[in-house]
Amino acid sequence: MIEPRAGLGVGGGYHSPQLDVAVRLNTNESPFGPSTDLLSRWYEEVAKANLNRYPDRSASHLRGVIANYHGVDPESVFVANGSNEVIQTILLTYGGAGRRSASFEPTYAMYETISRTTGTSYLPFERDDNFLIDAKSAIAQFDQDLIDVGFICSPNNPTGLLEDLDIALNLSANGERLIVIDEAYGQFNEVDSVQFAKGHSGLVVIRTFSKIWSMAGLRVGYAIGDPRIIENLWSVCLPYHFDTSKAKLAELAFEYVDEMEARVGFLRAERDRIMDFFETLPVTFWRSSANFILFRPDSIDGHKLWEMLLERSILIRDWSRWPRLDNCLRVTVGSAHENDIFMEALSDIL
Ligand SMILES: *Cc1c(COP(=O)(O)O)cnc(C)c1O
Repeated sequence: MIEPRAGLGVGGGYHSPQLDVAVRLNTNESPFGPSTDLLSRWYEEVAKANLNRYPDRSASHLRGVIANYHGVDPESVFVANGSNEVIQTILLTYGGAGRRSASFEPTYAMYETISRTTGTSYLPFERDDNFLIDAKSAIAQFDQDLIDVGFICSPNNPTGLLEDLDIALNLSANGERLIVIDEAYGQFNEVDSVQFAKGHSGLVVIRTFSKIWSMAGLRVGYAIGDPRIIENLWSVCLPYHFDTSKAKLAELAFEYVDEMEARVGFLRAERDRIMDFFETLPVTFWRSSANFILFRPDSIDGHKLWEMLLERSILIRDWSRWPRLDNCLRVTVGSAHENDIFMEALSDIL
């Protein structure tokens, strides 16, 4: 039987085990869904939509709504089915055979995975001991290894730390390279990468509906960048890749910005509450600007702790066996009740 292309096939995909538990704090989703008011308006709109017709191929109405929200032109906006598909489209366009991508480990695993599936050579560069990017060596590495596309995740997953956006700008070398700033956790902090990237042809910012908008199930992500870059992404994605019904929900969501901001405000306060609690425990943790916190227990094996939490039906993310993350675990901020259960179990065990 024919084999997949080298490097692809079974065993290469993304794995975050989904187990049946009472408290699920492992994939950085929002604990709350979108409001019923928003959803019932969406149902009405979908009932009226002409589903016998193909969608508007360039999602022009949604692009206008997103552009308005960020204060950019609609020509600067690309939309796709989750930011993973945005990343894939960027790599189909600017990566591929003979091209090189890079990021700084540990970071979001999909940069490497999607590089592989698109035939792009991925180079994993290192961070310093504090999990930050060293500007000087980063620029030297990008120059030496002739990187075409770089990924900067800010705040970084799984560390929760904000990156220095000037490094991203310098790495783009005035647009000779494309630097993708992945702002999946924008809004959980004060930084606005879209404003920072404005006017810089080598910077593209990507955002998602999966975290702040509480709609991981909807699969919507978008990119904002120079219209010439964005136009190329539209020419590479599949025709009609973005369906009519999700475009409607995404458009309507921007009429509910207040709700989103209230949810995010609550989660930020809960995040700070969990970090205050970590201060009192024998753990090392990294000050997070996102909706999750990376931590390392000082006196117990990380994987063992993960198992003990699981025995209590609490699922967090186990990074303890990953390179550079020995013994580390990552907890997603949940509802106040879920966070209480997590914290009680943790202080009990430790
Ligand atoms: C969760 C996450 C995403 C979201 O991907 P979607 O495909 O939009 O669900 C993107 N980037 C990072 C770094 C993430 O953590």
